[in-house]
This record gives sequence, C-alpha cells and structure tokens, in this order.
Amino acid sequence: MTAVRLDGKLFAATLRARISDQVSHLRDAHGLTPGLAVVLVGEDPASQVYVRAKGKQTVEVGMASFEHKLAAETSEADLLALIARLNADPKVHGILVQLPLPAHLNSDLVINSIDPAKDVDGFHISNVGLLGTGQKAMVPCTPLGCLMMLRDHHGSLSGMEAVVVGRSNIVGKPMAQLLLGESCTVTIAHSRTRDLAETCRRADILVAAVGRPEMIPGDWVKPGATVIDVGINRIAAGEKTRLVGDVDYESAAQVAGAITPVPGGVGPMTIACLLANTLTACCRAHGLPEPEGLTV
Ligand code: NDP
Repeated sequence: MTAVRLDGKLFAATLRARISDQVSHLRDAHGLTPGLAVVLVGEDPASQVYVRAKGKQTVEVGMASFEHKLAAETSEADLLALIARLNADPKVHGILVQLPLPAHLNSDLVINSIDPAKDVDGFHISNVGLLGTGQKAMVPCTPLGCLMMLRDHHGSLSGMEAVVVGRSNIVGKPMAQLLLGESCTVTIAHSRTRDLAETCRRADILVAAVGRPEMIPGDWVKPGATVIDVGINRIAAGEKTRLVGDVDYESAAQVAGAITPVPGGVGPMTIACLLANTLTACCRAHGLPEPEGLTV
C-alpha cells in the first residue's frame, strides 16, 4: 500500500483563501478589520522567523498586524503592562506572545494575563479548562490544524482508536482532548510508555508530537492507519541540513492509509489556524455568527 499524502500546504492555502473572503465580508458588511498582535521578547532566530511569517500571512488575508518587539531584558512588569494595553485595545482581537520567553519571565503568568477571549494560541488556563470540559474555547493552533485535516480526510472519527505520542501542553494534551471530543478512544503515550511500538500499532489515527527525528518506523504503524506527523526536526544532510518529522516517512508511507509529510504537512496549518482563531475571536467580540468549519 502507498499512503495518501495529506497536503497541509494546499489545505492551508485553501483555508487562508476562505479566511480572506470572510475578512472582506466583515469589512464590507460591518466595517470591521480583525487585528492580531504578536509580541516577541528577545532575538531568538527561530522565533523571529515565525513572527515574520505570522505578520506576513496576517496582512495577506486582509487583517491588521501589530508587531511588538521587545528587548530580551524587558521586565515582567513592562510586558504585563503591554498585554494590559492590548487587552483593552478594540482594534486587537487576537494576542499571541511568542514562546519561549527569556528565562527571567514567568510564561504561565504572562500567558494567563492575556484576555482569554483574545488568547488565539489557546494556552490561557481558561481556554485549557473550556476545551477539557467540552465547552467553546480558543483551541491551540497546531492541534486544531491536525483535527481539520483528519476531519477532511475521514469525515467522522467516532469510535476510532487514536494514539497521541507526546503530552506537551501545546500539542499532545490538547490534541488528545480534541480527539476525545470527536469520540475517538484516545491513548496518550510519552517517554515512560512501556511498549511504545505495540501502543502505536493499535492506532487507527497516530499523531506523533515528540521532537525526535524519524523515531517512529513503518512497522509501528497499523496497516491503513492515518499518520499525523507534528514533529519538526532539523538533521544534517551532507554539508546542509534538512527537515524531517518524528515518523520515518518512507517506511510509514508503505503501510499507512494516509500520512502528512514533513515539511508541507502540519506545519503550514499552524499559522492558518492562528488566522482562523483571530477571525473567530473578532466575530465573537462583536456578537457576529462564526464562519463554519474554522473551529471545533
Ligand atoms: P515537547 O518537548 O514539549 O514534548 C515532547 C513530548 O514527547 C513529551 O511529552 C515527551 O514525553 C515525549 N517524548 C520524548 N521522547 C520520547 C520517546 N522516546 N518516546 C515517547 N515519547 C517521547 O515538544 P512539543 O510538543 O512542543 O513539540 C513536539 C514536536 O512538534 C517538536 O518536533 C516540535 O518542533 C513540533 N512542533 C511542530 C509544530 C508545527 O507547527 N508543526 C508546532 C509545535 C511543535 P515526556 O513528557 O515523558 O517527557
């Protein structure tokens, strides 16, 4: 069997086009422009790349982008004061603080100071609680993107065995919550899982969010399973480097029914879902109906 390649790049482009149409509608019908504020503290090169990409795509769909770049030594009080201003600013519907923050800043405190209604990353403790109790939440972007691709491919996920490898707060746990919300039977595996290979082989849906290059080989994949590879790992390739996922694509694609590649799978969906969340936040803030299919 050769798996269907789930093309996240194409899916994300289609999603952005839908968002762009909705943004035009909001402007024409209601005089509204969704606004996303991104806060970057320090000069971490990877974070700078992400923030640039987010700003560019925000503007491309017709939203307002507000970038706040702060020095690495910014005090917690100054950062909290900026977030308080953004919370109160009616032009800002979404606020994202780029992680990781420098070590002297308390990430939990900072994230929990964002107005939950503007928390487009879905990391605020209120949104975590809402998601966990099946209530309307802001859903973390990467798991939301994974779910959109799974729903698109399968329609209903009800009754399927799902295994999520990784239990981080930003990917593994919210992914598992979303799959539970879809009535999957969910297992969360992690570094202490006793027989990871056997656990993975049970999965109709296997989500890998570990951060270890190609650690999941094809013989851990159930024939016909859908494999969602969240991992982004840079490995040496001769003089250069290349990106690989947590799954060994070549061998897994021989066994799986469908699989996301790296790059070009889950990665592009993350920013598209950030824009979707910003649009959702804008609609909720103004009491307007939310466009269908942009959240759970
Ligand atoms: P974390 O490091 O926060 O979590 C990794 C998880 O993997 C932990 O729960 C850890 O278990 C588990 N783990 C580590 N080693 C093993 C092992 N040998 N066997 C089983 N489980 C293991 O990572 P993130 O969740 O933040 O990210 C995971 C990957 O996803 C990374 O490659 C990251 O770059 C990528 N990513 C991609 C995004 C995208 O847009 N596509 C967005 C976010 C992340 P334990 O808890 O026991 O330590």
